[in-house]
Amino acid sequence: TAKIHRHIANQRKDFLQKKSTEIANQYSFVCVEDLNMKAMANRGFGNGKATLDNGYGMFLTMLDYKLRDRGGQLIKVGRFFPSSQLCSHCGFKNPLVKNLSIRHWDCPNCGKIHIDRDVNAAKNIKKEGLRSLTA
Ligand SMILES: [Zn+2]
Repeated sequence: TAKIHRHIANQRKDFLQKKSTEIANQYSFVCVEDLNMKAMANRGFGNGKATLDNGYGMFLTMLDYKLRDRGGQLIKVGRFFPSSQLCSHCGFKNPLVKNLSIRHWDCPNCGKIHIDRDVNAAKNIKKEGLRSLTA
């Protein structure tokens, strides 16, 4: 089974290499959330296995050096930035959407409909990343 585990790990690494190269070839600046891997694994958030052996951390390391090789930059947004609670349209903070089971919500301030919490969070991470870059 050690052999199988190694095989799977290699396959995953290969996939992460390909993906990070693909992204680095397409973009100069990439904003990501600097997540706390340990906390994520403990909470069983998302893909528990992938976070336990830190696939995301490995991916960020790859992406970071590939972007820098090409003159770009990986911009990490702090883990306490409330990316999913902010309305990406008006900036209103809605603590009610902290609950991960809420996938979509209407902004009580501007009425904007957020169909996908991850898309909304990604927009906020991009905005915050670019802001920190120019700050
Ligand atoms: Zn709003």
